[in-house]
Amino acid sequence: MYPAIPFNKPYFSGNETRYIEQAVRSGKISGDGLFTHRVHRFFEQQLGFQKVMLTTSCTDALEMAALLLNIQPGDEVLVPSFTFVSTANAFVLRGAKIVFADSTSLNPNIDAAALESLITPRTRVVVPVHYAGIACDMDAIQAVAERQGLVVVEDAAHAIDSYHRGRALGSLGTLAAFSFHETKNIISGEGGMLAINDVDYGPRAEVIREKGTTRAAFFRGEVDKYGWVDVGSSFLPSDIIAAYLWAQLENLADIQRQRKTIWQRYYTALTPLRAQGIGLPVLPDYATNNGHLFYLVCRSLTERTALITYLKQRGVWIVFHYLSLHKSAYYKAQHDSRALPWADLYSERLVRLPLFYELSETDQDRIINEVLGFYQTY
Ligand SMILES: *Cc1c(COP(=O)(O)O)cnc(C)c1O
Repeated sequence: MYPAIPFNKPYFSGNETRYIEQAVRSGKISGDGLFTHRVHRFFEQQLGFQKVMLTTSCTDALEMAALLLNIQPGDEVLVPSFTFVSTANAFVLRGAKIVFADSTSLNPNIDAAALESLITPRTRVVVPVHYAGIACDMDAIQAVAERQGLVVVEDAAHAIDSYHRGRALGSLGTLAAFSFHETKNIISGEGGMLAINDVDYGPRAEVIREKGTTRAAFFRGEVDKYGWVDVGSSFLPSDIIAAYLWAQLENLADIQRQRKTIWQRYYTALTPLRAQGIGLPVLPDYATNNGHLFYLVCRSLTERTALITYLKQRGVWIVFHYLSLHKSAYYKAQHDSRALPWADLYSERLVRLPLFYELSETDQDRIINEVLGFYQTY
């Protein structure tokens, strides 16, 4: 028997522990220290974001967005049903009503063409999720948002170093949330970031992130004492987290090159399955691939279960993804009973293959051969 191939293995450059030690020895390990500033500068100067703020998770960045936009009970927020729970929960915490939208037939991204029909006078926000790092149809989404006066908040948890018509995902909406959870491309264990693309939101974001106080301005010497001026919470990570993240960002180009190579090898080797009706990722002409995840769309739930079991028996861990949120135990009673067939289809049939920096060609070939072997007989 071969050794098992895990689904994911967190990337580690070796410098993470060195930088953490440096942060510890610097004598300042609370938030907004040396490494946090380095990370902020990297995103603002090298990647072209106007303003970014590290948070303790993407979930927290989304919660900050909901606070910044003053979401009130009864406000409506358009969210794809096929997404992580935080995309919706951040707004539910503010009392919003979530109006779930379906995915497209092309890929799991939100169906922009269906948005207009979901809008009411209470609709405030639309939250596109760039699934697998592949851009949503942002031209269509932004056109609807402009026409209807909605704010666009991108859930860019998967989307670092990916682009829509040459513009970085996470820089298109008014606000955007990134994740550095260990399952993402660039990680810090837990971690996230809010990108602020309308600078008017900057000053208040800083206050909300620092417990509703002017602490950040105080430490820059802009005010002579700091006090409570707004609502807020503690959204900033320790500099130890930022130190870990900095070591990852230093290797961003190498990580991305390696992940995209692995993704492309899967894509080339598994493309023949299309003839059998198996789905592969689809990249519209406006989108790029950032090697975040590689998926197949099986022809049925039964087939997916059989594929997962078949590979598991051969030591390969492949996993399905989100369950439709409109059918979740928490939200199903509040859903307006519209069927969302594409969200359900991806919930039942999508499966993700191992994709991590250290995945060797030998192991990847084993995975590919097992998948092809399964489909020779299934
Ligand atoms: C991972 C993920 C999140 C949450 O990220 P955390 O950093 O774990 O809070 C939110 N949305 C999507 C689409 C994700 O994949």
